Amino acid sequence: SQKGSDVLTDSRPISWSQIGGLQEIKESLQQIIEWPIKFRDRFRNFGVKPPGGILLYGPPGCAKTLLVRAAATSANVTFLSLSAAQLYSPFVGDSEKKLSEVFHQARAGAPTILFIDEIDAIVGSRDAGSKQSAHERVLSTLLNELDGIGMKREQIQRSEESNSLERSVILVAATNRPNKVDKALLRPGRFDRLLYVPPPDYEARKSILEIHTKKMNCENVNIEFLAGMTELCTGADLENLCLEAALMCLTKEGSDADKVTLEYFEKALENARRSLTPKDIEFYK
Ligand code: ATP
Repeated sequence: SQKGSDVLTDSRPISWSQIGGLQEIKESLQQIIEWPIKFRDRFRNFGVKPPGGILLYGPPGCAKTLLVRAAATSANVTFLSLSAAQLYSPFVGDSEKKLSEVFHQARAGAPTILFIDEIDAIVGSRDAGSKQSAHERVLSTLLNELDGIGMKREQIQRSEESNSLERSVILVAATNRPNKVDKALLRPGRFDRLLYVPPPDYEARKSILEIHTKKMNCENVNIEFLAGMTELCTGADLENLCLEAALMCLTKEGSDADKVTLEYFEKALENARRSLTPKDIEFYK
């Protein structure tokens, strides 16, 4: 469409309880995102500055997108989610124009959480003397929009209008490669709050498996055992494991079983995807 919706991704509502583990991050996001919206009058009275942009970083498939969707659901604001990498698709056309359109949409629907996934795709070109590339134009568009939103917030802080903070746009970005994010995006007032979203530990894997098996017709599934066997799995891998177990059950020859039992999970474990390496876990720390 003309409205930038071809770069927008999944933004369905979800609740905090559908995300396993990550208790600390959930609380941080509630404080940074929800409170300024919910308690905007008190924030203004106290002269507390609303947050700048937030950058979530950590390995892929570990709930960065889910967390932002849950924050938007719980704060009851508009949620727009865009993949920065998708902006450069030849089908999208003028990347920077699309980006501006998305910001326009965000302001029109405010209060809005605008989520930019794969923000590392937006970088300035480093080769001097070359013509301005699409990447550079997108970066400068984004910087302008970011600084614009920052300035508006300062004005809102000073103004007496009671519903003015309601009109704000909160920016959250995510990356799997924090060291590749253009430094210009990380300056104060831009994406200046960094939050690490870690891969799931044993307890988190247990709750993720509980969340996903609850949706299935399971019997005698030993969650502790599975959590112990899935050390290098991301949340997405665990979801996939549950799906594989269900498929095994469906396709088993001569079976009309209607319950997914531990035996199918054990089979699925044999070829389970384990996206993390021990090195990954070190790298993101
Ligand atoms: P990417 O960097 O690839 O965009 P991400 O960190 O944003 O990954 P999500 O898209 O939020 O990851 O997660 C992918 C899928 O994995 C989710 O749709 C969800 O089903 C499952 N998942 C990941 N982490 C969790 C979790 N903590 N609890 C429940 N489900 C999870």
